[in-house]
Amino acid sequence: MGYALKETKYRFRAWTKDGKWDTGSLTTDKNITIHEGSNVFHYGQGLFEGLKAYKQKNGKIVLFRPDMNFIRINQGLDRLVAPRLPEKLFFEAITEVVKANKDDVPEYGKGQSLYIRPFVIGQGMNLGVKPSDDYLYSVFCAPVGTYFKGGLSALEFITTDYDRAATNGTGQVKVAGNYAASLYPRHLAKDAGYAGVIYLDPATHSKIDEVGAANFFAVTHDNVVVTPKSSSILPSITRKSILYLAEHYLGLKTEERECFIDNISEFKEAGACGTAAIITPIKAITHKGLRYQFGDGEVGPTIKKLYDLLVGIYYGDVEAPEGWIKEINID
Ligand SMILES: *Cc1c(COP(=O)(O)O)cnc(C)c1O
Repeated sequence: MGYALKETKYRFRAWTKDGKWDTGSLTTDKNITIHEGSNVFHYGQGLFEGLKAYKQKNGKIVLFRPDMNFIRINQGLDRLVAPRLPEKLFFEAITEVVKANKDDVPEYGKGQSLYIRPFVIGQGMNLGVKPSDDYLYSVFCAPVGTYFKGGLSALEFITTDYDRAATNGTGQVKVAGNYAASLYPRHLAKDAGYAGVIYLDPATHSKIDEVGAANFFAVTHDNVVVTPKSSSILPSITRKSILYLAEHYLGLKTEERECFIDNISEFKEAGACGTAAIITPIKAITHKGLRYQFGDGEVGPTIKKLYDLLVGIYYGDVEAPEGWIKEINID
């Protein structure tokens, strides 16, 4: 996610008591003191979200589609048998944190933003493998730079024989353990000089699933924007938005379907997408020793257009579809 530029002063914490969330409050304490027997330490009952606040030209501070993060965190909590977050608490925590740290929201025009990290963990003494009795919901934030220091450039990726998630596992939710499972394949790819890994579908290893902690999308030779259909990928809000922009702003056809790695040459452009990655163009994918390059290896025209639209919407320079941008009232 680019680089964290600095730490911020305020974070928000809410705790459950008897299965019910309290109202929560801001704190300046960066440390959390919880019991050593907490579920999150041993059995990974924890999950997170990621979204950004952007400062627009007119000085407004906005969030991009936070309603989708709200839906997704509760889907994750259901999967972890943890109590759902009430809508009011979810948004209040984010709004309060952005307001309290408003001086750390980067200025318009630098390609920077305030990355916001909500998370929920199961906490309190719990030695058996069962859901926690108690939970913490917290939100902290950090200003982050652009992913690419030198502007948009295409990167090299390699497929891996490892899986980040199982076919009917927890790949669809932002559960902590998925990312622990991804560290080793990531390490191998980095060591070999690649920007990251391409995960294949865990059942057959024949179809593209994801790009590290970002979703995959590609453009066919006849300009159809394609993204994988799979039960083991995280449903990216950025991806959903890109498909919408391709269809409604660029007039392109879109498809959510299988992307066979052996048929990779059907694509002339490819990219990774996510809140952190925004759009990362993929230069080439190496699979079983063979390197396939997309187009001339430079950033393709459709990816460039989608990037400009998406970033333009974040910063208010392109008109957003209804309901995508939520302003935070600072005063
Ligand atoms: C968060 C995440 C994404 C991107 O999702 P966005 O909603 O676009 O930020 C993609 N893949 C994985 C595995 C993720 O954790």
